[in-house]
Amino acid sequence: MNIHEYQAKELLKQYGAPVLDGGIAYTADEAEQVAKDLGGPVWVVKAQIHAGGRGKGGGVKVVKSVEEVKSVASDMIGMNLVTHQTGPAGKEVNQVYIEDGCAIANELYVSILVDRETSRVAIIASSEGGMDIEEVAAETPEKIITVTIDPASGLSGFHCRKVAFGMGLTGKAAGGVAKVIAALYKTFMEKDAAMLEINPLVVTADDDVVVLDAKMGFDGNSLYRHKDVQDLRDPTEEDPMELEAAKHELNYIKLDGSIGCMVNGAGLAMSTMDIIKLKGGEPANFLDVGGGATRERVTEAFKIILSDPNVEGILVNIFGGIMRCDVIAEGVVAAAKELELTVPLVVRLEGTNVEKGKEIMANSGINIISASDLGDAAEKVVAAVKEAK
Ligand code: ADP
Ligand code: MG
Repeated sequence: MNIHEYQAKELLKQYGAPVLDGGIAYTADEAEQVAKDLGGPVWVVKAQIHAGGRGKGGGVKVVKSVEEVKSVASDMIGMNLVTHQTGPAGKEVNQVYIEDGCAIANELYVSILVDRETSRVAIIASSEGGMDIEEVAAETPEKIITVTIDPASGLSGFHCRKVAFGMGLTGKAAGGVAKVIAALYKTFMEKDAAMLEINPLVVTADDDVVVLDAKMGFDGNSLYRHKDVQDLRDPTEEDPMELEAAKHELNYIKLDGSIGCMVNGAGLAMSTMDIIKLKGGEPANFLDVGGGATRERVTEAFKIILSDPNVEGILVNIFGGIMRCDVIAEGVVAAAKELELTVPLVVRLEGTNVEKGKEIMANSGINIISASDLGDAAEKVVAAVKEAK
């Protein structure tokens, strides 16, 4: 789960990271009031969406009067902001953050993430802040510093200094950056974050260090123990179908293809998506109905798949273990009847009570294409979608 810049900054402030004063506004009038309270003389109006690259897209504006804050906020709220991270469709701006302006001398980059290769938390830093870090990594990899933290001993002063000196800093600025790194790391660990990116971390004209931008994401599996983080969720930033799926304890991720998948088990779901691609199709989603799916849950899963207008065919791939194939077959038939399926449906069942399951489908009066194995199923659904076109 991701949060907004202003929320991340509030959180980081609690941990002692230096952030500028600012306030959130949902209307131009609120923006005006925040600007008056801050006092100026320079303000920055920042669109709050869950995507970076806002500056280049027109979502970050430096202004020098309260009137300007108001008019820029009025333009920004409700606008569709397109950045390289939102995709071409863009995202609607519902709120803006008004922040004190900062006299920037130097823009740095710092992020903390879980490094899959070492299975450890890593701090990534660069003196080349404010830019696209992927570009820096590709063109000048020597300017990227990586420090990996041993989970047993945690973060020490030398890690922080290694980052600061590695970026070429000295004196007050180096000390300031080392302190910020410690605060960022503590926030990351205590809140079970998955990603924290400060781009830019700024050194001011007075050699003060300030967190100027903050992107933060959390491990969804840990949210149950962080009520305060859960409360930061912005449902308007999330896929409505994924939210609906979560209500029914379905593991659903929307994708861009045309073949809807309903599978039990995450591993089987992944291989089903792979084999659909191998046979020339594109999956419309990842969907794991779980081990103990009931008829109701199967129906909900169908509804979610079918609410995606891109779906042109459905592949059900179930391995009946604890869950019996006949129960699944009943669920599939009930859902297909209730929802009046208009797209081809291919079902591959295997495991406990598979014969009974196949019988239920064959006698259902519904046009279900039965498949014998996974390869066969993928081939059949790709062919059926082509034919239906
Ligand atoms: P994004 O990464 O989405 O483009 P940032 O918050 O990084 O958004 O802002 C983009 C740029 O705008 C920063 O690199 C910085 O140069 C400038 N900027 C952002 N906030 C401030 C501020 N409070 N004062 C001065 N400049 C700012
Ligand atoms: Mg940024």
